Parts: sequence; structure tokens; C-alpha cells
Amino acid sequence: MENTAVALSGVSAGYENQLVFADLTVAFSQNQITCILGRSGSGKSTLLQLINGMVRPINGSVLLFGKGLDYSRIAHQRLSIGYVVQNTGLFPHLTIQRNITLLGQIAGLPKPKLEQRLNQLMDMAQLPSAALTRYPHQLSGGEQQRVGICRALFLNPPVLLMDEPFASVDGTTKEAIFLYIKTFQASEPRTMIWVTHDWDEAENLCDQFILLEKGRISVQGQRDELPSLRVNNLQQS
Ligand code: ADP
Ligand code: MG
Repeated sequence: MENTAVALSGVSAGYENQLVFADLTVAFSQNQITCILGRSGSGKSTLLQLINGMVRPINGSVLLFGKGLDYSRIAHQRLSIGYVVQNTGLFPHLTIQRNITLLGQIAGLPKPKLEQRLNQLMDMAQLPSAALTRYPHQLSGGEQQRVGICRALFLNPPVLLMDEPFASVDGTTKEAIFLYIKTFQASEPRTMIWVTHDWDEAENLCDQFILLEKGRISVQGQRDELPSLRVNNLQQS
């Protein structure tokens, strides 16, 4: 498919004692938000880790814009794949400014560019500039999560992976964060692959979804198919 950003083709993968995926084939469309739904242990996190090369397939391949991941330069490849996790992964001893600009500094961007991107992201996430000199623990959970997203987006990666980033954020804060996500997606569209076990979250945000069950895709569809699927799923459990 021409508009595919990320694809897995015939992938078998897992851990020493456990095969999580056997012959998994799936494609993620460019500039769409795809939610990965599924119970705990169904393989959602492993799927994201396959995409960013933290887990390597035993068989099959992972393709990024049509090219197989090059594991010999995986650190470089990851610059085009943002990754946001639940506990934000912010560095506690670095200020918010340093946390957000980290990847830009590593990539050697000149100072004016760093500042320009920093300001742009702070604006989009509606973070006050007073936060720049603070440390992560001095911000609320929701603010920290927004900082985590700003950091992941610093180099404007074409692909963003999110692994249940809002599991510990309360409902009202979540609503606000979803608005920021929509703002980001409107101003700089990218391919988002978003793991959640929260169907409300998926119904609110995704364009498409995948339902994983024990390492297999049991359903793949568009957002408007979610409500009826949800009713059926609840009836089954
Ligand atoms: P999910 O994110 O949907 O909860 P995971 O991808 O984390 O599922 O896990 C899929 C399966 O792989 C589970 O059975 C889990 O116990 C196992 N698993 C996950 N991570 C590891 C690991 N680092 N080592 C061994 N087994 C793992
Ligand atoms: Mg997980």
C-alpha cells in the first residue's frame, strides 16, 4: 500500500519463554491515528517495541515507509519514531526546557532552531513558559504527560508510538490532553499508533483501530465501528 507508514509482514516474535506473535501481518496508514485495543497481556506493548526495534522479530520483517528496519543503526532510526510511555520517562534532574529539547540537542540543532521548536511545542501544548525552568516533580501529572509528548515530538517524527500514556491521568485532564493531541495532529499530521485498553479513549481519538487478542488481530476497523463492537465485547465477557 502506497500510503502505509508502518507495516509488519509475517512477523513472529516474543521473549525467551514465550512466543507473543506468530505470523502477524498488519499495516498502519500514514497520518492516521490507530488505536491498539486489547486486554492486558495481548501483546500491545510488544507490538510497539517491534516497531521501534526494541524487540526483534524471529521471522518476518518490520517496515518503516517501505524499508526494513536497519537494526545496525537503530538509534538513528528511532529519531523518526517518537515514543511516549505511561510514566512519562522524563529525567527528574533536568529542567522542563532540557527535557523537551533533549533530542534536538543530541541531534546537534543550532540554538535558534532549538528555541523555535521549543516555543512552538509549548504553545501547542499550552504549557506556561514559567514551567521551562522547573523540574518534572514541580508539575502536575497532566502537565508532565504533555511535556513527555512535547519531548517525543521535538524532532517532528513522522511516527509516534504511545503506550497507554494516559492510564494514570484523571478524566478531566485526559479530555484536555486529547484536545492538544487533536491540535498537534491538525497542525503537523503524523502516523500515531496508540495503545490503550480504554475504549472511551479510542472512540474519542482514533481514525482506525485494531483489537488484539492473544497476539492475533481479532478485529480491525474504523472508529465508527467501535461502539457496536464494544457492546458485543462486553456481552461476551
Ligand atoms: P500488553 O501490553 O498487551 O499488556 P505485552 O506485550 O506487554 O502485553 O505482553 C505480551 C506477553 O509477553 C505477556 O504474556 C507478557 O507476560 C510477555 N512479556 C512482555 N514483556 C516481556 C519480557 N520483557 N520478558 C518476557 N515476557 C514478556
Ligand atoms: Mg502493555
